[in-house]
Amino acid sequence: MSEFVQMRNEKLAQYVIKGLKSRNMSGYYAANKEEALKIALSLIPEHSSVTMGGCMSAIEIGLVDALKTDTYNFIDRNQYQDKRAAMLDAYDADVFLTSANAMTKDGIMVNIDGNSNRVSAIAQGPKKVIVIAGMNKVCDDLDSAMKRARNVAAPMNAQRFNLSTPCSVNGTCFDCKSPDTICCQFLITRYSRHEGRIHVILVNDNLGF
Ligand code: SF4
Repeated sequence: MSEFVQMRNEKLAQYVIKGLKSRNMSGYYAANKEEALKIALSLIPEHSSVTMGGCMSAIEIGLVDALKTDTYNFIDRNQYQDKRAAMLDAYDADVFLTSANAMTKDGIMVNIDGNSNRVSAIAQGPKKVIVIAGMNKVCDDLDSAMKRARNVAAPMNAQRFNLSTPCSVNGTCFDCKSPDTICCQFLITRYSRHEGRIHVILVNDNLGF
């Protein structure tokens, strides 16, 4: 990434952080993955129970590996036989990790979900939500954020899970009603009623989808 892209991203991140603050959410700027990891760990007290909703960005910055130690109680849903029990345990976690499928430059987050455990945990349940988002997720406005979620994030997630959807085949959204659709629920997070619950780390890198 060129230094001019990085400079522009940093300025834009500061603008997004102001928008988040106006929405009762906390924003942080990380110049790179290493800084993002440090900020994320500073927000997670030792011995916290931590879970996540399919967050590639948390994996990419090394956060998931850092949490799989005795210092934290990492709830790994892949270890559960009973997927419903895993989802219910996630609601009671101290910290929920996620990314955003898209963000507006004034701090609104857009997330889409098939099973809907991820979007429901962002909306309520876990005491703290930490969002790790590369600057590639930031869009101009809500319309372009919805388009990004549908036409960029969803097709890649559908391919990741080998789902039978039109976007998986064609790389763009066809507003399908396929049984495999991952677009069952759309969550637009425009304000947090609970002070100190939602924290967004904006990373000057391309992360996730
Ligand atoms: S609505 Fe269907 S085609 Fe569109 S992104 Fe979602 S799963 Fe893909």
